[in-house]
Amino acid sequence: PPAVPPHHPGCYTLGPAGLAPRSPAAAPRVWFVPDALGIVCASATWALTLSEGALLLSAWLLPAQQPAYSAVHGSLFHLLASLALASHARTMFTDPGALPAGAPPAPGLAGCCPLCGAVRPPGAHHCRVCQRCIRRAHHHCPWVNNCVGEDNRKFFVLFTLYTALGALHVLLLLSVPALRAYARGEWDLRTPVRLQASLLFLFMVALNGFLFAGLMFTIQMHSILTDPQSQPGEPGQASAWTNLKAVLGPRPSPAWISPFASAGPRAASGPQAVV
Ligand SMILES: [Zn+2]
Ligand SMILES: [Zn+2]
Repeated sequence: PPAVPPHHPGCYTLGPAGLAPRSPAAAPRVWFVPDALGIVCASATWALTLSEGALLLSAWLLPAQQPAYSAVHGSLFHLLASLALASHARTMFTDPGALPAGAPPAPGLAGCCPLCGAVRPPGAHHCRVCQRCIRRAHHHCPWVNNCVGEDNRKFFVLFTLYTALGALHVLLLLSVPALRAYARGEWDLRTPVRLQASLLFLFMVALNGFLFAGLMFTIQMHSILTDPQSQPGEPGQASAWTNLKAVLGPRPSPAWISPFASAGPRAASGPQAVV
């Protein structure tokens, strides 16, 4: 990086190559937020998703004794759950867009974060859990133990989408036959109590997963589609379609719904302006 003029009072300076940190530190190869609450919540997310799959098999699909039915629905749920957990891992271990931290700024220096010394472009906020300023920060989510920002937003959207779809699948599997039987007056009360308890637990996990993840997905999509800041320098020009492409990738492709594909380099990435 270009040399920083020694007279500059903290924060960053604009050089010929753009923003240069006052005291550049090597970016960590793996991003991980050492937050106890986040680690507990993120582990609980994995535990609940895995137990959802195990209970679906042991308490619903295998007792049905219909190999084709069990194979189709077992595969479908585990595909959705695997995509959800892969998206979760990508969300958690991807740098959400942390701006380089600098030396504590001199008081009153405009555009400089008073906590980490980063120069903040519009939309960036300081997160007290991550202890960094995050580009296009949406919120810090303990369930993925990370901020949801510009660089991991796609993975968070996919995590909520696949979690909600998997949970909806379980809810439909559990409720449709029961509703049918109830409508016919054939509700079977002879099922062992232990099985009923595990089915009730499975139903509650799926219901919570569907409501919570579905709500988060809806909030994210609304926020993405109506984001007026998506096109730097062209306020008011951003369409919902442009906004969607800014998060998922430049053109529609299967990579849009793959947690294994990054959204790709964007013009918007990196510091954009000094206020
Ligand atoms: Zn900051
Ligand atoms: Zn954060």
